[in-house]
Amino acid sequence: MKGASEVRRWALLALLLASAGQSAAAPAEVRRGGLSVVYTDARDRAELSTVFLAWNGAVRDLRARGLSVPAAVSLRAAGSAADFAARTGEPAGIAASTRGNVIYTQRLSALGAHGLLPFTIRHEAFHTAQPAGLARWLAEGLARTFSGEALSDPPAPTGLEGVPDASLSARLLARDPVLLNAAYREATRRARLLVHRRGWRSVLGG
Ligand SMILES: [Zn+2]
Repeated sequence: MKGASEVRRWALLALLLASAGQSAAAPAEVRRGGLSVVYTDARDRAELSTVFLAWNGAVRDLRARGLSVPAAVSLRAAGSAADFAARTGEPAGIAASTRGNVIYTQRLSALGAHGLLPFTIRHEAFHTAQPAGLARWLAEGLARTFSGEALSDPPAPTGLEGVPDASLSARLLARDPVLLNAAYREATRRARLLVHRRGWRSVLGG
């Protein structure tokens, strides 16, 4: 029978081996058309067809609004929420973050399990295609309108109706998830109104 300290040591070793195994897993890359997807967790492979289907739909719908995605876009899926936070500096509760033509996402199978994957792909596709110089609040509001995320926003007031656009942009940088949630909803409410009144092409053209 093993002593308690021996058991503990074994448990620790098993943990170290497990995490070493995870980090040693070679990332896999799958490219279809202009999108290349790099993932490290093997479970993500089952989500690839959803990713490419959502991407192709987004490319088509963006084109109908006068926008085009870059010729080559790289989607890099994190292995875990901590990995995502380390790669992007974003809060671990954020689904994805786009810098130029690189999209950083949470583990694809985690997004899939929460029903967020197609919305996330469409949202980030919009960011790769959005006109330069778009105000942050408008970019986020339009991305959530385009993705369909706006449809699940509750009709209740956001509490930020009186906040100026520039302050709303600043609030979208908040690290507090509760503040961030209200700011996203308010940005989306304003963007949807603009699209409803003026149409996509006019709003995107400034
Ligand atoms: Zn966004």
